[in-house]
Amino acid sequence: NQHLLTIDDLRVNFKTYGGEVQAVRGVSFYVDKGETVAIVGESGCGKSVTAQAIMGLIPHPPGKIVGGRVVFEGAEISHLPKKELLGIRGTQIGMVFQDPMTALNPTMKVGTQIVEGFVRSHQVSREEARKRSIEMLSLVGIPDPEKRIDQYPHQFSGGMRQRVVIAIALACQPKLVIADEPTTALDVTIQAQILDLLKRLQEEQALSVVIITHDLGVVAEIAHRMVVMYAGMVVETGTVEDVFANPRHPYTWGLMRSLPRLDEGEKQRLIPIEGSPPDLFHPPVGCPFAARCDFAMEICEQQMPVTDEFGRGHQAACWLHDPRAPRIEELVAAGR
Ligand code: SF4
Ligand code: MG
Repeated sequence: NQHLLTIDDLRVNFKTYGGEVQAVRGVSFYVDKGETVAIVGESGCGKSVTAQAIMGLIPHPPGKIVGGRVVFEGAEISHLPKKELLGIRGTQIGMVFQDPMTALNPTMKVGTQIVEGFVRSHQVSREEARKRSIEMLSLVGIPDPEKRIDQYPHQFSGGMRQRVVIAIALACQPKLVIADEPTTALDVTIQAQILDLLKRLQEEQALSVVIITHDLGVVAEIAHRMVVMYAGMVVETGTVEDVFANPRHPYTWGLMRSLPRLDEGEKQRLIPIEGSPPDLFHPPVGCPFAARCDFAMEICEQQMPVTDEFGRGHQAACWLHDPRAPRIEELVAAGR
């Protein structure tokens, strides 16, 4: 069975004055039809760059895909000429960014911006496109769409703008929507509303969604599967259920500890992961998390951990799961 989207050993470098940054270092995952996959990790882990690579938006120069493949519906799109890629981007893959203002043209009525998407993908008349645009605005929960369609982006609140961006992304009836931190710039109540909207649309339209986030709360809310990235690599992946119930990588443990617990109410305490990620100009030869890991062993610094499978596609890359490693209980007992 073919996946809708397959990322296979993707590598992306950026040339800078200081040298070459290895922003994405061999990332692999897939997205099936009708599922939401979250890519989660701290800023700088390569999650946005991975999304940009899927959409052909790596600025070149300074960025470049130096290895691996992006396969969409069975066809490799990572090395397509820009023009063909633009076609796929406009009609098969929709995009939602963190800041809705970057996605909107401030000088154009929102209606015109949605109509563009329809006309481009369906070759319908402007009149028909306008009718459908009003339907789209109402689908994404914008009240009074007949009036709102003739307004400009600045006449909308932040949350309403993000709804407009989602309407534009959906106007071309894409199979896949990529949302990069779609709620980060919004306040908490609006965040929840936008997540609900994305979830509802995903289910109703049987969409596939890749959502990029640093927030495990967002992952729990909306995703079926998750990919945890650290220092340009995938350190853990699996169903949200499995990873939350039984996380296998120390970095994921750290993320879980830094998640606010609703049941602890006022007393909730966030425990940040101490230290900072490695220098990706000169990435470590061994485990990228070793410098921050409470469980690091000698082998961790010397060799890249192998990826182990724990069933149902749950995988983690950590030496603790290697038969040669001491048992976690022993490390804990030794005060690690
Ligand atoms: Fe920690 Fe070693 Fe596992 Fe890396 S491989 S996460 S350093 S225990
Ligand atoms: Mg980002």
